[in-house]
Amino acid sequence: MRESLDNDFRKRFRSEKIGNAYSGRAHFWFTTVTSLAAVAFCLLQADRVQPLEWLAIPATFLYANLVEYWGHRRPMHHPTRGLKLIYQRHSKEHHRFFTHDRMQFDSPQDYKAVLFPPIMIVFFIGGFGVSLWFVLAMLISNNVAWLALATGIAYFLNYEWLHFAYHCPANSAIGRLPGMKTLRRLHQNHHNPGLMMRYNFNITYPIGDWLFGTLYRSERN
Ligand SMILES: [Zn+2]
Ligand SMILES: [Zn+2]
Repeated sequence: MRESLDNDFRKRFRSEKIGNAYSGRAHFWFTTVTSLAAVAFCLLQADRVQPLEWLAIPATFLYANLVEYWGHRRPMHHPTRGLKLIYQRHSKEHHRFFTHDRMQFDSPQDYKAVLFPPIMIVFFIGGFGVSLWFVLAMLISNNVAWLALATGIAYFLNYEWLHFAYHCPANSAIGRLPGMKTLRRLHQNHHNPGLMMRYNFNITYPIGDWLFGTLYRSERN
């Protein structure tokens, strides 16, 4: 019964939300190339970085991990004014498309149920990134602003790559990369409808889950 409900949802999602013109591979490469180009551009702007300025990298990494944690724990799993679209995409679509016993893409068309839409990438980098740059450049230094922006974008790409990898077949070349089994299992537990509101809100590295006591490990694959 569950299996057929999942199938119905997958079929409906594919026909309503994934048009024939959509290319999963183009989507993946757009995300990758745009993000890498933006990271390279930011790094090239940094000039004679002082020892303390390098701290912008670990500080931004930690901050991004906590933003990922709270963004996922709150608005992605609770309807929030102004952010209902990401609740819809995540809780109502992503979690129904993929459950803990059905984590894999069936074809590249299904990438749409995982990757952020290209317009949001432009918004993240162009809107959020540029304002972050101005605040940090004004408060600290240009180098800190460039390094923080580069780290934030690299973190975003790392999020997209890891989340993508968790939904690839476990026995594929990507699924067998070092450390992937452990990280995928955490995310697979999060996709269990009985656990998803309470555990494993980090998609990348479970720092936030560890800090806030929401880490759930199990031995199942
Ligand atoms: Zn997922
Ligand atoms: Zn979730």
